[in-house]
Amino acid sequence: MSARDRARALLRRHDGPLTRELVRAPGGHGLGQLPADRVPDRVVRSVCGFCSTGCSLDVHLKDGRAVGLTPTTDYPVNLGMACPKGWEALAPLAADDRATTPLVRDRRGRMAATDWPDATACFVAGVRGVQQRHGPDSVAFLSTGQIPTEEMALLGAVAKFGLGMVHGDGNTRQCMATAVSAYKESFGSDAPPYTYADFEASDVVVLVGSNLAVAHPIMWERLSRNPNDPELIVVDPRRTETAAAATQHLAVRPKGDLELLYGLGHLLIARDAVDHEFVAAHTSGFEAYAEHVAAYTPGRVAEATGLDIEELHRCADAIARGRAVSLWWTMGVNQSHQGTRTAQAIIDLALLTGNIGRPGTGANSITGQCNAMGSRLFSNTTGLLGGRDFTDPDHRAEVADILDLDVATVPDRPSLAYDQIIEGIADGRIRGLWVIATNTAHSWIGQADVHELLDRLDLLVVQDLYTTTETARRADIILPAAGWGEKEGTFINSERRISRIRKVAQAPGQALADFHIFRLIAEAAGCGGTFRSWDSPEAVFDLLRELSRGRPFDFSGISGYEELDRAGGIQWPQPVAGAEVDTERRLFADGVFHHPDGRARFVIADSRPAAETLSARRPLVLLTGRGSSSEWHTGTRTGKSAALRRLVPSDPYVEIAPGDAAERGIRPHDWVEVTSARGAMRARAFVTPTVGTGRVFVSMHHATTNRLTMPSFDPQSRQPAYKHAAVDVRRLGNAAG
Ligand code: SF4
Repeated sequence: MSARDRARALLRRHDGPLTRELVRAPGGHGLGQLPADRVPDRVVRSVCGFCSTGCSLDVHLKDGRAVGLTPTTDYPVNLGMACPKGWEALAPLAADDRATTPLVRDRRGRMAATDWPDATACFVAGVRGVQQRHGPDSVAFLSTGQIPTEEMALLGAVAKFGLGMVHGDGNTRQCMATAVSAYKESFGSDAPPYTYADFEASDVVVLVGSNLAVAHPIMWERLSRNPNDPELIVVDPRRTETAAAATQHLAVRPKGDLELLYGLGHLLIARDAVDHEFVAAHTSGFEAYAEHVAAYTPGRVAEATGLDIEELHRCADAIARGRAVSLWWTMGVNQSHQGTRTAQAIIDLALLTGNIGRPGTGANSITGQCNAMGSRLFSNTTGLLGGRDFTDPDHRAEVADILDLDVATVPDRPSLAYDQIIEGIADGRIRGLWVIATNTAHSWIGQADVHELLDRLDLLVVQDLYTTTETARRADIILPAAGWGEKEGTFINSERRISRIRKVAQAPGQALADFHIFRLIAEAAGCGGTFRSWDSPEAVFDLLRELSRGRPFDFSGISGYEELDRAGGIQWPQPVAGAEVDTERRLFADGVFHHPDGRARFVIADSRPAAETLSARRPLVLLTGRGSSSEWHTGTRTGKSAALRRLVPSDPYVEIAPGDAAERGIRPHDWVEVTSARGAMRARAFVTPTVGTGRVFVSMHHATTNRLTMPSFDPQSRQPAYKHAAVDVRRLGNAAG
């Protein structure tokens, strides 16, 4: 059979039916109020495809068409709630700019429509051509936390074991690589220990660098249900929506958080708020930690953080008094030049006070994307499948054995990280790039450079839902992909819950699930036989179960999709088949961590200054972050919903403090220009005291924000430091936009 015939045969099998299960009888959530043509005849349950919370949504189908959705009422994550993005989850599928046919750039530079056999043949010829000219390492891929785990695993396997690529990373590098490296060193494995019920069981909640009310609104709702009237301590340079609701807001100087956390350690030891029994039995390195934080006196920390000494004492008192203290962090910590060490300083506080493994406790990283946690385990990018190590021959042999592969096809080197791949493009080592479900040209730090570098590539392939993203517009080949709602698989949420996503709509035109695109590419590359057993998402889930066996996240005891459906999602680990487990579970209740000695480690480091210093020319610190609950990352999908667009300002805006604005003659709503050493963006001035003097804030969703950001990276995790750059703002006038 020719390659085209094999591709056609695969294509015939790929146009699968919608999920048939009647998950529950239509009802609830006021369905009786709907017009007759929108009352569903079937309801299919699926986990939301935006953020890491992992809310369950009941998608309403009528005559085989998805006509609406409501949040699932009896799901342990969201308890009947959804944020605006979840309610609008179907809208991005109906957009006009969906990629509906493969496109290949022709000799005259125009994108020409073609079919899958031709597009995949062009893909393979392009990749092989670059590899032949510049070496096997010269083509890399950039993956995502937005596709199901089964698709990530297949992508990593086809790219590395089939196409011979060595380098591939994910956009998850941008959001939670820091948490991974912090947990691995502190706990012995990448193991976020909590369950969302912990939000409701704490009597002290500490949020560091997390605007939970906006970034994770359903977790915020869970926290709001806490019956203990908890002390809520928010560490954030801005008075965010979350900080405004706090009992204590520590408006720390940007990047002063590591000093603050060590200062709190100092004060807690001074109060003898140490859980000596726990520290002695379950940790190592406490003496060195105590010696280290002895230097972080209240005076020094107040100086470094801009906080009052009284604020430091009040915060330490609250933590010392707490019976169940949970400490949470997200991007304000992760996206920092010293993110890993800052995250570990949070973990140190939990270990010091014995706040781990009990209800309402934990050192808890909140993840960003819907399946960032799946990517952490199975993307096969910088780590080998299942949290293994490419450089370890035993690990390579184990994976080859489980997957029935020739071990020689498994690379013996780890991949370059995302920033190193970009650097590789700059110095000519990387000449071809395959970008899947991410928008590098918008989201990568220091955007102007990235645009220029992408244009320099010999081959840029973009596999996405849309032809119009900033990255797709630069592509040589566009592979049209199905979106959330148009395919099957599983996601893993922030609290380690593995849940199903389901096909409730047909993808338009020739668009295919990424899973099937990877299979077509494997066939076109002549390595389809290697992946013959990877013939459906469920079959891959079975392989992943085997790959998890004996690992800290072992879920080999989950029998398959049917059990996930029955249970409504199961948290890892689940090593024992048929075991009765609680629907909400936390790790380390037994005090046994994943290092060989079973102990967690205190990790310490000296604080380092941010990469860019302020100057008379650029005297303001640029902070970036989520603008609203109605936007998701580069707006590729949320921008397609008219309802969501109405919930966000139509113009880019910059938050600036009244004094800083007055000094520059800036009035509310003026057009201004924000400039850094790398570029400029125009925005409306939002004059507000919430941002703090000497700082400005710009939403990360604006297309031009990353013209300003400074490419610097946490050395341990190589995560970009989006939260600190030196800028100035000048008035343009009222009509300059
Ligand atoms: Fe979806 Fe996250 Fe909103 Fe829940 S909170 S509905 S998972 S975007």
